[in-house]
Amino acid sequence: MAANPLPAIPLHAVPAPSERKLIEVRNPATGEKIGEVPEMTADEVRAAVARARAAQPAWAALSIEERCRKLIRYRELLAARCDEFAGAISRENGKPAIEGILHEVVPMIALTNYFTRRAAKILAPHRISTMPLVYKSSYIHYKPRGVVGIISPWNFPFNLPFGDVVMALIAGNGVVLKPSEVTPLIALKGKALMDEAGIPTDLFQVVTGRGQTGAAVIEAGVNKVVFTGSVATGKRIAAAAGERLIPVTLELGGKAPAIVLDDADLERTANALVWGGFANSGQVCASVERVLAHERIYDKLVEMVTERAKSLRQGDPAESVVDVGAVCFSRQLEVARTQVADAVEKGAKITAGGTQVESAGQYFQPTVLRDVTDDMRIMREESFSPLLPFRKITSEEEAIRVANSSHLGLLAYVFSSDLNRARRVAEQVQAGTVMINDVLASHALPATPWHGVKESGLGVVHSHEGLRAMCEMRHVNYSAWWNPKSEFLFWYPYSRERYDGLVKGVKFLFNGKLNWLVRWFS
Ligand code: NAD
Repeated sequence: MAANPLPAIPLHAVPAPSERKLIEVRNPATGEKIGEVPEMTADEVRAAVARARAAQPAWAALSIEERCRKLIRYRELLAARCDEFAGAISRENGKPAIEGILHEVVPMIALTNYFTRRAAKILAPHRISTMPLVYKSSYIHYKPRGVVGIISPWNFPFNLPFGDVVMALIAGNGVVLKPSEVTPLIALKGKALMDEAGIPTDLFQVVTGRGQTGAAVIEAGVNKVVFTGSVATGKRIAAAAGERLIPVTLELGGKAPAIVLDDADLERTANALVWGGFANSGQVCASVERVLAHERIYDKLVEMVTERAKSLRQGDPAESVVDVGAVCFSRQLEVARTQVADAVEKGAKITAGGTQVESAGQYFQPTVLRDVTDDMRIMREESFSPLLPFRKITSEEEAIRVANSSHLGLLAYVFSSDLNRARRVAEQVQAGTVMINDVLASHALPATPWHGVKESGLGVVHSHEGLRAMCEMRHVNYSAWWNPKSEFLFWYPYSRERYDGLVKGVKFLFNGKLNWLVRWFS
């Protein structure tokens, strides 16, 4: 399994305390410092990968059921401390604690539950067809890859990385996680919980730092990389992984369109759009980022969404019950300001919000814009902030064309009272997942694939395919009941007679008259 031999770890791997660089972590809701973590060096990352690699064979030697038992213990501990984790997520990320529990802790429990129950079946060896060599047998089996490197963002600082961690561990791998430098504390808390659950401490490592530390994870020779983050960094990761021929899964940005057809239930649609646009302050890769509403219901829908957006309570989640918390990463405030200014300059009208809130914390008002056009940055670039722009459409065809005009294709939404019509539209939209009459929630369904098309990513997480992708797929082929002395079709010596026989055979079998036989052999 140790595919990439590692250089010896130098003795100076850990910097002296005086040379140690630290990253401050702040609560985005208040600006208050809540902790600091070391910016780990490439040597330290190499050491962490080496420790995970050394611990991995013993873990892989356990049965899947034995590994799952440890992860069930992790799930139980997490459930018992769900409020503690929700509070910690809220403090570090700025989202309301209810989102901490509903968007992060509960999906984490559901995912762990689902895969610990089914992993043995999903990863069981299975037979496959050996047509046309019917005398042979083939089966597929799955082996751990070795050490999986996971590099993650700040918007779901617990659920995103730990979903991948759980799946990589179940599959028998060691794991090195590099969480976002904006929200590293919850990753360390999750690591402590894994330790307590009995996951061997060297098997799963957390390395803290910025982009360079992430790059060092790949350079240290991990056997697979699962990256969630921006398109720009994703391309760098893909290039680095390509250099080393390491498989890579990329979960990147989104610009989800919500197509609202003229027969949509407006009450449900308005409620969904407000939640889909402003949950987690709009910092969801699946957030509704473009509403494409039919002209017959456009004005009414804008009015309903505006009214709801204005009624949202925003503020420090620790102080009172709020619907919308803080913007986690200050860069997103700048993105929101720039996109709103650009849209207004080009003719859009703000119907709710529109500005950054004066505060020691980081807040941008839930903002609704109407009359947006395709040339505006808000329609073309990821916003990842609480902005909900409305564009008028006149037909299904126009809606599909505009929806597909983005370079991104992660999530999309269709609203209609006619399920057949909605499905017909959904199937034409270029996105990894299209939800009908709902938003965001599919990430919480562990059996469904989470993946983007176009520049939204490569590969898949969650789902049976996602678990199998944490493994090497291996194929064994043999003849159980007939082993001729020579493979008469393929092996030496070649002869003129065999060539002539093959030519005759191909012409005879595939002349169109024997399709029933060809079908049987396929
Ligand atoms: P980012 O790309 O700036 O950073 C993501 C992670 O990569 C961080 O841990 C960062 O330290 C690390 N990193 C940065 N440069 C690196 C390098 N050269 N090599 C290795 N690691 C490096 O993204 P972000 O701002 O943290 O996250 C926001 C983005 O993530 C948005 O575009 C959002 O849509 C996307 N996202 C996608 C999904 C999904 O499932 N598709 C989920 C959440 C967020």
